Amino acid sequence: MDVNEFIQESKENVLSGVGITSEDATKLFNIPEEFLSELGRAANQITREFNGNKVDVEQLNNIKKNSCSEDCSFCGQSAFFDTKIETYQLPSPQEVVTRAKKAKDEGAESYCLVAAWREPSPNDFDKVCQIIEQVNEQVDISLECSLGFLSEPQAKKLKELHVKRYNHNLETAKSKFSEICTTHTYEDRMKTLQIARNAGLELCTGGIIGLGETRKQRLELVLELASIYPEEVTINILVPVPGTPLELQTPLEKSEIIRMFSIIRFLLPESMIKISGGRETNLDDSGEELLQSGANGIITSGYLTMGGNEAKKDINMIKKIGLEI
Ligand code: SAM
Ligand code: SF4
Repeated sequence: MDVNEFIQESKENVLSGVGITSEDATKLFNIPEEFLSELGRAANQITREFNGNKVDVEQLNNIKKNSCSEDCSFCGQSAFFDTKIETYQLPSPQEVVTRAKKAKDEGAESYCLVAAWREPSPNDFDKVCQIIEQVNEQVDISLECSLGFLSEPQAKKLKELHVKRYNHNLETAKSKFSEICTTHTYEDRMKTLQIARNAGLELCTGGIIGLGETRKQRLELVLELASIYPEEVTINILVPVPGTPLELQTPLEKSEIIRMFSIIRFLLPESMIKISGGRETNLDDSGEELLQSGANGIITSGYLTMGGNEAKKDINMIKKIGLEI
């Protein structure tokens, strides 16, 4: 069977619900460069079939910034690195309500509260709960959280407060993890995902590509994500932050990024697949091609420590390629 036939057969297997094996995924992940656009097109057909034309537009709110106790080598918010990023503690519930309302007015459907810490202290967790209660009361927006490691009672509390989805990234392949972080383990991250799922929260997980991992390690991460089957996969493309150990990291080729998104779609046809940090810095088209090669979500209006496209610009881009918000 030639490569094009293999792509089409794999696509039909996904569309009919049979799915593909990890061997097929490995073959697809390594197809020669000249077949990449065909792979992207097939991933796009799977996306449209299972998810329609809608693109999820999300905004983030970094509710606690910088001075994190962990040493994740890509992260500008780690206290281990001198990155000159401003530091702030939790804002008042009313401040978050105002920002969530603005996000909603700008077209965002989901709003994620993110905190740069290893895990919430009991006191900080109580404050985050007060913020969530106020946003729930005053803004009609789907609320998500990314608060680091969770205990079982904390996860249950978030569920009680109607948090829809919990984000916690595996970051990279298990075989690479100890090179990018020494203050916690891959298993620690897996444990929080399990706790969140057991509490009934939907899962959002993924990682960062372009950390110097091999293609084989990117595939390792993809297969792990497929085995978890999260409701949402979030893929960041490294933004090298001055002052971090990865500040001089060579950017990934766009073709590697397309491989990644396309194969995730083949393996997780129904999940939301979001292009997260690094979209504007690593992709000269702001993600247009990826939104037609498997992805169906973006983060708009900036990230945790960096600016991004204005919501209006992103929404115009989505409409221009015939998709909807
Ligand atoms: N501290 C919590 C944690 O680690 O789970 C909360 C979220 S953490 C601040 C948010 C995510 O941003 C990380 O998991 C990582 O995937 C992504 N991220 C951090 N630095 C990045 C960078 N320089 N480029 C791209 N993505 C990055
Ligand atoms: Fe801390 Fe999260 Fe950044 Fe790691 S990724 S240093 S845990 S904020």
